[in-house]
Amino acid sequence: NKLQLDKLKKLPAKTIDNHLIEIGANIGAPNDMLGVQKYGAECIGLYRTEFLFMGRKSLPSENEQFEAYKLVAQSMKDKSVIIRTMDIGGDKDLPYMQLPKEDNPFLGWRAIRIFMSRKEILYTQLRAILRASAFGKLRIMFPMIISVEEIKLLKIELKNIKHQLKIENLIFDENLEIGIMIETPAAAMMSEHLSEEVDFFSIGSNDLTQYTLAVDRGNNLVSNLYDPMSPSVLKLIKIVVDAAHKRGKWTGICGELAADTRATTLLIGIGIDEFSMNAPSIPIIKNIIRKSNFKNSKQMAKKALCQATSKGILNIIDQFTE
Ligand code: PEP
Ligand code: MG
Repeated sequence: NKLQLDKLKKLPAKTIDNHLIEIGANIGAPNDMLGVQKYGAECIGLYRTEFLFMGRKSLPSENEQFEAYKLVAQSMKDKSVIIRTMDIGGDKDLPYMQLPKEDNPFLGWRAIRIFMSRKEILYTQLRAILRASAFGKLRIMFPMIISVEEIKLLKIELKNIKHQLKIENLIFDENLEIGIMIETPAAAMMSEHLSEEVDFFSIGSNDLTQYTLAVDRGNNLVSNLYDPMSPSVLKLIKIVVDAAHKRGKWTGICGELAADTRATTLLIGIGIDEFSMNAPSIPIIKNIIRKSNFKNSKQMAKKALCQATSKGILNIIDQFTE
């Protein structure tokens, strides 16, 4: 109820043995900001900017984007906002861009891959984000990364844009952090090297599940095979968290698994530092975090990740929570 919610909002997402986890909201549509306040998100762990590009007749201009990002940055004050660059393609079409029809859109021209041949879209968005970074605490996150080369290239582009903004006397946050989504098995396997290039990781469990299991996330014919609790997916998540921590970087999770109550203690035990989800799920997950014990969860996670099946993993978690 409202009273409990208000009380919980003010409490940190801390385990009983004082391990602090950050808990954030995913936003996309403008209305999502209402839930951020209501459910007490400590940050925005994923701002899906493609919604700015959809339902219109042309690409949003730099100023349009700047105003949108600035509004979110300002309303979050000193709390951080992770802006993910446009993730169009896959299942999200933009009629005005006349994206070619593809046989395998989820394996095709999607997200940063579009930027590589349509550089002006990348520049416009990065300029808008950088300019908005003067009004709050913004971070940039790139989706669909599969290699070190990609992030190196994106960082060069970013550096050039910063240089250009300086020439134009436009202010921005010089220390703005850069992160990537880990949502392909390639990125997970390369996380040790990728962690040298970025400030943080965020696990996109929706796509990581889709690509690890080769199961189209939107196809009902195979939805019975779509299983983020599969040991194959969870082992990759563990590799990513360990690689990040080895370099002193943090790892969040912003896919649906972040709000899946079956997975919470396991993800805590694996060492996930930040959970970001649809805002209404925040109180439920925060409650679980506040009741759990980090040390015990770590031991449980070790056991769970040795299991051969998701059922085995779920059994270990059930035994643990009882
Ligand atoms: C994900 O893939 O888990 C994710 C958070 O990104 P999206 O759902 O927007 O692809
Ligand atoms: Mg994704």
